[in-house]
Amino acid sequence: MIDAALPVTALKGVGPRLAERLQRLGIHHVHDLLFHPPLRYQDRTRVVPIGGLRPGDEAVVQGRVELSDLQRGRRAMWLVRISDGSGALTLRFFHFSAAMRATLARGATVRCFGEVRRGAAALEMVHPEFRLVDPEAPVPVEAALTPIYPTTEGLSQQSLRNLTEQALALCSDGTIPDWLPTPLLAPLGLPPLAEALRFVHRPPPEVERARLQAGAYPAQQRLVFEELLAHHLSLRILRARAHRHQAPVLRGDGALRTALQQRLPFALTAAQQRVIAELASDLQRDHPMQRMVQGDVGCGKTVVAVHAVLQAVEAGYQAVVMAPTELLAEQHRDNFQLWLTPLGLEVAWLSGRVKGRRREAALAQLASGTARVAVGTHALFQDDVRFHALGLVIIDEQHRFGVHQRLALREKGCHQGRYPHQLIMTATPIPRSLAMTAYADLDLSVIDELPPGRTPVETVALPDSRRDEVVERVRAACGGGRQAYWVCTLIEESEALQCQAAEQTAALLAEQLPELRVALVHGRLKASEKAARMAAFKAGDCDLLVATTVIEVGVDVPNASLMIIENPERLGLAQLHQLRGRVGRGSRASVCLLMYHSPLSENARARLAVLRESNDGFEIARRDLELRGPGELLGTRQTGLQQLRIADLVRDRDWLPQVAQAADGLLRDHPASARALIRRWVPGEIYGDV
Ligand code: ADP
Ligand code: MG
Repeated sequence: MIDAALPVTALKGVGPRLAERLQRLGIHHVHDLLFHPPLRYQDRTRVVPIGGLRPGDEAVVQGRVELSDLQRGRRAMWLVRISDGSGALTLRFFHFSAAMRATLARGATVRCFGEVRRGAAALEMVHPEFRLVDPEAPVPVEAALTPIYPTTEGLSQQSLRNLTEQALALCSDGTIPDWLPTPLLAPLGLPPLAEALRFVHRPPPEVERARLQAGAYPAQQRLVFEELLAHHLSLRILRARAHRHQAPVLRGDGALRTALQQRLPFALTAAQQRVIAELASDLQRDHPMQRMVQGDVGCGKTVVAVHAVLQAVEAGYQAVVMAPTELLAEQHRDNFQLWLTPLGLEVAWLSGRVKGRRREAALAQLASGTARVAVGTHALFQDDVRFHALGLVIIDEQHRFGVHQRLALREKGCHQGRYPHQLIMTATPIPRSLAMTAYADLDLSVIDELPPGRTPVETVALPDSRRDEVVERVRAACGGGRQAYWVCTLIEESEALQCQAAEQTAALLAEQLPELRVALVHGRLKASEKAARMAAFKAGDCDLLVATTVIEVGVDVPNASLMIIENPERLGLAQLHQLRGRVGRGSRASVCLLMYHSPLSENARARLAVLRESNDGFEIARRDLELRGPGELLGTRQTGLQQLRIADLVRDRDWLPQVAQAADGLLRDHPASARALIRRWVPGEIYGDV
């Protein structure tokens, strides 16, 4: 069998120029071409009666030319009316030649393909493809649906079709092998590879287009399965490889942890204790821990992380805590300082904004080991950062880091052949089966319990036409000594526009609520300014904090018991749940007002209802899966996986248990096939030596 690495230049007609264009689409090998699925399909397999056309259809029609009319206005236009007995259709041309006009003369029979749109008088096609036909001996229609591929300049659909045709032939003759053994496929009811690819690239005329577009045919599912399997295998292999690495044994005498627990103003929940024990046992091994701790907002992940940090420090090693944003990192720094300073530990701080002498000082502390703990952003892993003895890396809010970044961090932390332990913390609740596949390189711990005494946040949805009432509620709450958040959302990607909108809202609210102290935080403020305003809010020197979604994670102000979220319909459920988690942190009953803009779509209404009905992140995630279009809960941004080409982790999640099972079987009985599958589907060097 020839391996998947057959280059595209092996195909007829592919020279250096075409190869270069294909490369722009990420197509280097013949198998890349086969796994470059069509975006959509055209149906040229039947001639449709004109009378049955609807605007928006793309169709083949055939009719007799009844009228050919040249209109000379400011812009010349040529209109041709054709009819097939069931109805009439106008063909409209802005560019045309005398030769074309001579061809489409009255009485000729023409076959056209194009998109139907509503014209001034009748339905029309603008610049359709057309050819004359002999009504007595009509040319045959296409035998399969016509694939339309994602393409690039200088690469025609025709040429992609021609190349995929050749590639399909290589697949049928076994040159592109099917790596999934029949005993594995048969019970799943999935067809062999060659058949599946032929179907996806050239669907037969009888397919239902809606089902096809939804990826629901077994042939499509076969590719979905193979792709999920390949990604899962790659993560499994990464994990196996990581387990072979050496790591420092972080046993520790428990002295610092005991001291911490004596100072804790609360008892740890059973879930916290269980996860702390899981971490403690991982850290004592001489292979690097690779564990993700998942827990809903407010479940108390920080104190769990502090335990792991102390275990590393007790054992004579350093620990770093890294967060994806400056604001979140600052919150961590403050929290860790709160716990660690009384134990006599200094916390070094490093972010992109720490520069000059302060940065040098922090670097010196880390290199000499006088700082046992460091908190910061990506800046912690710049080239010139050296550690004395790094034992543990904690990454918060994993979903913003992909598997590559995770690996890069691990490599950076490697010292004399030993790798630091990695702990990843996330508040994004991901159903277990999804997590097992998307993060198959990690072990999973779940803190599935909130500390006692929390009053659930009461959530109310109301239209923004009742804004005045909402302002009065803010007045009443803050007048009574509470604090409130007002969160501004904006669809615009631009951070500048978001900040501008928040500024306007803050100004308006300050005017409407003159007796309150209103402050504003957004992503464009200087770090020191932002920190000062947050500190003032935390200290109670500010009543109402207007903010963009920068406060999504990490902010902890127990006296804040009211949150207004403007236009919640623009945000995902998981994000709304995170935002709402900023209130309900004290013992007071808290309220979250979702101030939406009418009219709400059916789906938006249902999503806001989920939030009103539940405070449980895992339940919300489950409902989110049911309500949302595929891919939103686990956008690629949020998974450990790279871009998927055909599969959709959410839509196709029912396969995941079988994927895991198939992976076991392949790794055990067909390791070479497992490697070949990874090479086929998961590009990248890191998997090269699997
Ligand atoms: P998250 O999991 O969202 O990061 P935090 O670690 O910020 O949650 O904890 C939220 C709040 O709960 C903090 O004020 C923390 O001190 C407090 N907390 C943590 N564990 C407990 C507990 N077992 N009992 C009571 N309060 C706790
Ligand atoms: Mg947290």
